[in-house]
Amino acid sequence: MRPLHPQRLRVATRGTTREINRRIALNLIRTNQPISRADLARLMGTRRGAVSLLVNELIQDGVVFEGATGEAKRGRKPTFLYIDSRKRCVVAVDIRPTRTFVMVTDLMGRQLASVASFPTEHDPKRFVAGLVKRLKHTLVEHKDFGRCQGVGVAVPGMVDSEAGRVLLAPNLGWRDVNLRDPIATALALPVQIENSGKACALAQLWATRDAEAPSNFVYVTVSDGLGVGVVIGGELVRGQHNIAGEFGHVPLNIDGPRCGCGASGCWEAYVSNLATLSRYFGRDLRERPLSADVAAFTIDDLIARARGGDGKALTALLSTARYLGLGLGSVVNAIDPSHLYIGGEITAAWDLIEATVRAGLAERALTPPAGTTPITIVPPEQYPRLRGAAALVAAPSFAEGVVA
Ligand SMILES: [Zn+2]
Repeated sequence: MRPLHPQRLRVATRGTTREINRRIALNLIRTNQPISRADLARLMGTRRGAVSLLVNELIQDGVVFEGATGEAKRGRKPTFLYIDSRKRCVVAVDIRPTRTFVMVTDLMGRQLASVASFPTEHDPKRFVAGLVKRLKHTLVEHKDFGRCQGVGVAVPGMVDSEAGRVLLAPNLGWRDVNLRDPIATALALPVQIENSGKACALAQLWATRDAEAPSNFVYVTVSDGLGVGVVIGGELVRGQHNIAGEFGHVPLNIDGPRCGCGASGCWEAYVSNLATLSRYFGRDLRERPLSADVAAFTIDDLIARARGGDGKALTALLSTARYLGLGLGSVVNAIDPSHLYIGGEITAAWDLIEATVRAGLAERALTPPAGTTPITIVPPEQYPRLRGAAALVAAPSFAEGVVA
């Protein structure tokens, strides 16, 4: 089995064979459901009797349920196994410098209610107070979804997820902020926080149904900033100081535009939504004040203008596409992944920018095959960052021996 959550897997690999089998069974049920006991035994490469014992135990623990009789031509009709995600939910939070988004999911990471959002308060204390108030309201409003298993938070910055601290979030101006504990205390719920690029990569790792899915990939999320998650050998790379994979702050040009991190010419300063919009308006939108119409103008508006024949809008998008591709070239040269995933609003313009992105990648990659590394787009309507936040809480339930 491919490890699913590297931090917590250590617990499982130290566990007993029974715990490991339990985790494998849960993951196989999750990714193949509905699945019969016979098929589960086949996938686990073990005897039917042994699997039945394991399954009975999972049913008894309320983790799996058996339902919907399947179709069989003759003989006893099989029943199917499902993960019991009923009456349990997860709250996912995606913090962005401009707005914060909240979504309630089931234990499988499936969306249960519409996404809510509110402007992001940049003072950490006031942010936490406001978030807690809203989450309390959300939990009361959705009481019928059952017991909340926890809150997952994707943060646009570097995070020490074990300590629950935001180390540095340049676009929020946060440095060494204890984000997890005040939320957890106020809500009396477990809270997990993670860098948004890493959360997206974890969700991608978790959601993949196919055993042949890439285990070496890089996930790039383009939004207000640029988040990157690197997975090697099925494990998320965190590094010694939790900053591994921060390609967003690797310079494309040391004399380039100013970046939120304080340096100049970072990749992020060329491809973030703010960079694209700044290019369109011909001025650094970081510099205030902004007129109301400029402040309210989004990357979606820019894409709409480009589609409507606004040449300046298309040029701004294509410049971003070129820088995105050149940066991907550096990523490929450093990591040489089998696959690249790109998320963020700009993917809505993929038909307009794909050729330019791929040309940039091919231009910078050190060998022609590396230059053709496959790219998969994760569209914004799939809420990859929120799914990533949900996976922070939901995935460990499957990766660990003990299920809450
Ligand atoms: Zn930077």
